[in-house]
Amino acid sequence: MISGSMPPYVFGSGAIRALPDLLKKRRPGWVLWLVDHFFSFGSDCPFPVRSGDTMFSVDTTFEPTVESVDAIVVSMREKLVEHGTYDPPRAVVGIGGGSTMDTAKAVSILLTNPGKAADYQGWDLVKEPTVYKIGVPTISGTGSESSSTCVLTNHEKGLKLGMNSPFSRFDQVVLDPDLTATVPREQYFHSGMDTWCHCAEYTMGADHDAMTDALVQQAINMCRGVFGGFVNHNEPDEDLAVRGMQCDSARASLMVASYLGGSSAARTGLIHPFSAGLGTVLGVRHGLANCVAVEALRDWYPAWRQSFHALRESCGIELPTGLCDGLDYDQMERLYQSTVIHEKPLRNALGDGWRDVLTREKVYEIFRRM
Ligand code: NAD
Ligand code: ZN
Repeated sequence: MISGSMPPYVFGSGAIRALPDLLKKRRPGWVLWLVDHFFSFGSDCPFPVRSGDTMFSVDTTFEPTVESVDAIVVSMREKLVEHGTYDPPRAVVGIGGGSTMDTAKAVSILLTNPGKAADYQGWDLVKEPTVYKIGVPTISGTGSESSSTCVLTNHEKGLKLGMNSPFSRFDQVVLDPDLTATVPREQYFHSGMDTWCHCAEYTMGADHDAMTDALVQQAINMCRGVFGGFVNHNEPDEDLAVRGMQCDSARASLMVASYLGGSSAARTGLIHPFSAGLGTVLGVRHGLANCVAVEALRDWYPAWRQSFHALRESCGIELPTGLCDGLDYDQMERLYQSTVIHEKPLRNALGDGWRDVLTREKVYEIFRRM
């Protein structure tokens, strides 16, 4: 039996205006806002922050790590002491892409659970519920807004792993496609294709249920529509020609696809472990690392890779090559270790005998294709 619970949503152009109402029940307490550094907290701040609330601009130059999350928690506690307040926030709002939403979930977890972020990487390690938390995606694709995990890099342990637990899911999400209008074109494609990868890996894996099948199938269709140019647009042709995958209706579709696809984010296969290796060792961003991995994993996902290729061509997106050229033995070995550490998805993709298939030589060979 599976028991899913996708977070309730407010969806549509201007949905961000629902935030004050959504937070009403949490007032007069204070709210902790964690917002991607792309957005300003100045006089033009588009979010309904009130005096007494605490705001953090989340630096997403790099994707979140256990250290970056611990540092926010420490600095937030210091700020509280400075202000003579010891009460925890009544709500946490995370506004940004997967990096910021995952940071918001992890910070929420550490507000009510003792210890450090690294203590909760794994499955079902979070024991206490968090304060009420709202996710507001400003890039579509990771599905963090609906998934039950928040992914952090842990350089000391050489892995990129989520805090997988029912408490890692937002209580509410605000899906406002207007917020994604400013995402740079390549980032938009890379992050958007994260949904497609979650769905491809889920579909090819052993761990299935009919409910998630339905959500995933619809998410795949919507990704095809957005990136293959088949969305049922009501927009002027000249607008479509210029903005293509980023026109208003495509951004709305991709936001829904990401939300639906988040249901499968914890049941990945081969792409995510290789992508995690690239992220942990070489610092390649998640969406791009997935795209590179899909191309290199052509033996296992031939049809998916072909369709990925077509979507990429249709959007005119190029991928880097030679990422692993010239790496020394130590770096290749770290890539290998940070990939095979992900036993759960590798077993989902290849069964119990996955180690016989993914030998050290095979893993090296796949990285050398990238
Ligand atoms: P991101 O959050 O890392 O952001 C990428 C860049 O886009 C940043 O520079 C950011 O400043 C910028 N940006 C964000 N919103 C913008 C906007 N509206 N306009 C202009 N620029 C904007 O990107 P992402 O791909 O959404 O997130 C990747 C992270 O998500 C990784 O850490 C990955 O591990 C994680 N992830 C989590 C899950 C999950 O279920 N929790 C699933 C997949 C991936
Ligand atoms: Zn992903």
